[in-house]
Amino acid sequence: MVNRVKVLEPKISNMIAAGEVVERPASVIKELIENSIDAGATNINIEIKKGGISYIRVTDNGIGIDKEDAKLAFMRHATSKISTEKDLNSISTLGFRGEALASIAAVSHVELITKTNYSEEGVHIIVKGGKVVSENDIGCPQGTTLVVKNLFYNTPARMKFLKKDSTEAGYVGDVVLHMVLSHPEISFRYINNGKESIYTSGDGDLLNCIYTLYGREYSKAMITVNHSENGIIVEGAVGKPSISRPNRTMQNFFVNGRYVKSKLLTVGLEEAYKNLLTINKFPAAVINIKINPQLMDINIHPAKLEVKFSDDKSVYEVLYWAVKNALYSETHIPEIIVRDTKKNEEDEIDIRIPLEKYNRKQNTDPENKIETNINQQSFVKEENGNEAIIDDFKIIGQVFGTYIVIEKNEELLLIDQHAAHERFNYEELLEKYKNRDVYSQVLISPVVVELSREEAVITFENIDFLKTIGFEVEDFGNNSVLIRQAPFNSENKELKALFLEIIELLSGQKESKISEIEYKALYSIACKASIRANSVMHTLEMKELVRKLLSMDNINTCPHGRPITISLTKRQIEKEFKRIV
Ligand code: ADP
Ligand code: MG
Repeated sequence: MVNRVKVLEPKISNMIAAGEVVERPASVIKELIENSIDAGATNINIEIKKGGISYIRVTDNGIGIDKEDAKLAFMRHATSKISTEKDLNSISTLGFRGEALASIAAVSHVELITKTNYSEEGVHIIVKGGKVVSENDIGCPQGTTLVVKNLFYNTPARMKFLKKDSTEAGYVGDVVLHMVLSHPEISFRYINNGKESIYTSGDGDLLNCIYTLYGREYSKAMITVNHSENGIIVEGAVGKPSISRPNRTMQNFFVNGRYVKSKLLTVGLEEAYKNLLTINKFPAAVINIKINPQLMDINIHPAKLEVKFSDDKSVYEVLYWAVKNALYSETHIPEIIVRDTKKNEEDEIDIRIPLEKYNRKQNTDPENKIETNINQQSFVKEENGNEAIIDDFKIIGQVFGTYIVIEKNEELLLIDQHAAHERFNYEELLEKYKNRDVYSQVLISPVVVELSREEAVITFENIDFLKTIGFEVEDFGNNSVLIRQAPFNSENKELKALFLEIIELLSGQKESKISEIEYKALYSIACKASIRANSVMHTLEMKELVRKLLSMDNINTCPHGRPITISLTKRQIEKEFKRIV
């Protein structure tokens, strides 16, 4: 066989190019919305079905396309946005390559309906696999509608790379979210499988967009950023430390209206929060940087989101000061929850440690914290129905609200209450998990958790796994979920934090093995379900905890490896006091 070099037919070369521009439904949506924005639209409607694989429609009220040009728009390198080499250096539109429509049309069935304000009627064009199959005049309002059906129908290899419909819809949602955040002056409506999931009024107020996308809690806690220096403008909003996240999914950066990912910008933002956030917490932010297009390079791959600036340092500094000024314009008094230790002791019993039934031999007051030695010994726990065991330790008390002090067999033990409880909870959970005996509690009032789109996708992909560790969750619309059942009952804040921690673990799934994630998720549950350091414990609680601890054989570390107890023997003490040598 002879290998001859030949130029590819346009149909094939378009299909290859399409592979670069059109990776999935979300990339189609991105290109179509960018075209609508470039056309000056103030209203953009987006509709998808089945994750966008079977159906995508984007309608705008922009300038429309001339009847004569409409067919041209589907040709490769056909663009109205630049014409000379000089134009390349000062691009102010989102598109400029003239590749998108040709690429999309090569791998799907496309319909275009468009009308300008100066023509009487519009035009309706149908393109299949890159070929125009019909062209007709049509009566329609000014603007453009593009319908894309059966994406990748002629490229099965591409089709195979697509994920579940819900995952693809999640990617589309991300694109819409970025568009909304970078263009609060445009009214967007996004319909997924017949359900309106985003609507913004286009009133130009970013905080209203944040409200729509992320909910009230977030919009209330965002501080507006508005700063300009050296010709660089930084606008947007950043979150107060109270709404920081365990990941960066709520950070959105835009440069001249384009969504970008940039290490430089991430670091600039996070440096400004230094000392305001604890480790592994990341700020929420919507940052729109406006910079002279000549000072940046956008002529990179269309599907890539990186951005290059000719003067990194200035951009970094302007961003840093913009955020820092915004943060310090608000006073930050950290929330401190003061536990009222003077309150009735009974109220202080932490319900997270179930107090088991006791048989009391002597008539002493069980709530009395200062108990005599005899009283201590008189609490007899009934185990296995009837066998009574008398404790072989004595609770001396609690120090620094964090350590339990006990006396046991000529030893003085200091027990880290959190570490002990965490270890016990972990062992218990692990046992139950192995036996598929999941402990899950119906919450009296379900908890709503507002998520980022990525987090929502991860949640729905892992709904079964979440069930196996005790979380029953439901879709609550707008990227929020309703937790109906949880591994334990606790304050909303704690459950939310735990849930986010687990979603974060799952998002790193590709790197770590699933079994590792299971263990880590159990650690997280055990930790959140355990009594904290700095909380006053009732004697009964301490006793219960010490009993549980002593029932575990040969375990002296928390699941993270910190010691649970330290001991001083009677001998050591006597030596220290020089009673013996
Ligand atoms: P580019 O955006 O890079 O110019 P596209 O392939 O995305 O390339 O679009 C080709 C041309 O079609 C655009 O330059 C524009 O003239 C026209 N066009 C596409 N979509 C729209 C729209 N929604 N409204 C008006 N014109 C459009
Ligand atoms: Mg375009």
